[in-house]
Amino acid sequence: MPERMAVIIIDMLNDFVTGDLKCDRAQRIIPNLKKLVETARKNGVPVIYCNDAHYPGDFEVHRWGLHAVKGTKGAEVIPELKPTKKDFIVEKRTYSGFFETGLDPLLRSLYNGEGVRTVVLGGLHTHICVRHTAADAFFRGYKIIVAKDGVEAFTQEEHEQGLRYLEYVYNAKLMTVDEIIKEVEKGSC
Ligand code: ZN
Repeated sequence: MPERMAVIIIDMLNDFVTGDLKCDRAQRIIPNLKKLVETARKNGVPVIYCNDAHYPGDFEVHRWGLHAVKGTKGAEVIPELKPTKKDFIVEKRTYSGFFETGLDPLLRSLYNGEGVRTVVLGGLHTHICVRHTAADAFFRGYKIIVAKDGVEAFTQEEHEQGLRYLEYVYNAKLMTVDEIIKEVEKGSC
């Protein structure tokens, strides 16, 4: 697998989909992400969930209100995308999956220590946590693929602008989930 890919699913949590920070537009990406994680698992591509797990005093809470509090139902991955025992879970306390978490050392430890080369990003939201996670992936030299039908935002405009920004600034390759699945199944990941 020359691309040594890992699928990273960001904040597909109850609070983000149906709870305190509810985003109706998230519904449409659920079946796509389900296909993506199932294909990844079948083909030995690591699946990593980057999940908000807030303490009530976190600075971000002043911007968004209380959401995804560590240990609550709201901070759990939605049932449709429930992680399996083989998946990895990285808890985060602000937008980026890399910020003061173990994500980078985890990625470097995979593929028998050769490390992940390409991160495939899906989840919420295109212009917030996906963007900040992409930024930190870019700064660390990872190649980035964004599942363009596997990320969403509160509005179409935020989503589209978010995608353009990811492509323009972080050189992210925008692909549909079906296109990514084809690559994974070819074994070129
Ligand atoms: Zn948060």
